[in-house]
Amino acid sequence: MDFSLTPEQQDLRERARTFADALIPHEVAAEEAGGIVPTEVKAEIRRLARELRLIGGNHAPEHGGQGWKMMEHVIVHEELGRITNGLWWLMGGGYNVLALGTPEQIETYLKPTLAGERADAYAVTERDAGSDASGIKAIAERVDGGFRIRGEKWFVTSGDHADYLIVMANVIDGGSRLPTLFLIDLPCPGVEIIDDPLFTHVFPDGHPTYRLDCVVPETAVLGGPSQIGHGDAGQHAWFVEERIHIAARCVGAMQRLLDEAVGWATQREQFGQPIMEFQGVSFPLADSAADCVAARLLTYQCAQMFDDGAAPKLVHARASMAKLFASERAYVCADRAVQTWGGRAYMRRNAAERLLRELRVDRIWEGTSEIQRLIVANALVKRGVSATLAVDARELT
Ligand SMILES: Cc1cc2nc3c(=O)[nH]c(=O)nc-3n(C[C@H](O)[C@H](O)[C@H](O)COP(=O)(O)OP(=O)(O)OC[C@H]3O[C@@H](n4cnc5c(N)ncnc54)[C@H](O)[C@@H]3O)c2cc1C
Repeated sequence: MDFSLTPEQQDLRERARTFADALIPHEVAAEEAGGIVPTEVKAEIRRLARELRLIGGNHAPEHGGQGWKMMEHVIVHEELGRITNGLWWLMGGGYNVLALGTPEQIETYLKPTLAGERADAYAVTERDAGSDASGIKAIAERVDGGFRIRGEKWFVTSGDHADYLIVMANVIDGGSRLPTLFLIDLPCPGVEIIDDPLFTHVFPDGHPTYRLDCVVPETAVLGGPSQIGHGDAGQHAWFVEERIHIAARCVGAMQRLLDEAVGWATQREQFGQPIMEFQGVSFPLADSAADCVAARLLTYQCAQMFDDGAAPKLVHARASMAKLFASERAYVCADRAVQTWGGRAYMRRNAAERLLRELRVDRIWEGTSEIQRLIVANALVKRGVSATLAVDARELT
């Protein structure tokens, strides 16, 4: 294993770091405004992300993306994880399933999304289908010239700002239900937000609930008619990728938490000495350092497996391990940082306080910790213990 970065990757890290450092000063204002970011700050974030070539890492350059390898995603997401209040999310970008689009969909959806002219939101989860996405009830029935889609979608991140939705629904085909992704332009008659609750984190976009009863043309099937029934495959690819991104952001968050906590503990004095000199304060931070490096190595190694073309099922399991470990440990690190800061970390202007709330969802979205454990346990049985634990490339094909 060699994790040394190429000069291009070092440059990418510098660019991502510049971006993160520029956003951090806006965090407290965003927190105090309930997540709302002034239009001019939003525009500046988008301009900077574009200038630093950080938008659309998951898409091909000919579509307006950056065509990054997974290691490059990890390098960037580590830096993004240092930022609170989801400010980085404002840079925009397109879900990776858009790359499965027909040439016309690439022109109509993907390219304008990466250019910042359109915005997507991904709607899979339902009231009765969360971890078990196979239980979705949204249906698409064939009607003259297209499909009638009916269903209810929960937690649609950015659904309050999107101008189109990517919706998973089952096409009814005789007795079969074929999971299929649809592109639905907004506004659309029969598609409405029925709830827009507040969440634990203070985020720039909401996660509203949508009710759908609408008719869409045949051309709304993502990837065209041949993709009817293949919606799960596209989603699966997104899950693996996003789980690695989450792990990397958690690593970045742990680094930020250590920067904040060590900075404070070496400067704050009680009983005539810096509190860092009390082992009750310094030892938990040493544990956080070990957690951070362990999560970083696991995430880098997973990215390397992905880039080296290791067996997809083993990459899937390793991505689950990375997300599970990094998200669980990052939450513990946030709690330790809060304790280090004492009462000041009960104030929302403190980054540790915000990270303690914000990191909680990383143990829930893109598959809960329990679902990651199921995937890993399944790999132990089906792929074998050695293959599931292997780090030697020869054992991973
Ligand atoms: C802020 C936020 C944003 C989100 N954004 C989106 C989005 O943009 N698009 C989208 O489609 N969805 C989104 N989601 C939904 C998210 O993916 C789901 O919340 C997640 O998959 C879990 O589903 P659930 O909430 O229904 O929990 P459930 O599936 O009901 O799980 C409840 C509990 O049961 C446990 N559990 C379930 N099954 C098992 C099992 N087999 N073994 C052991 N334990 C089990 C879970 O781990 C969990 O602890 C978002 C969620 C949040 C909170």
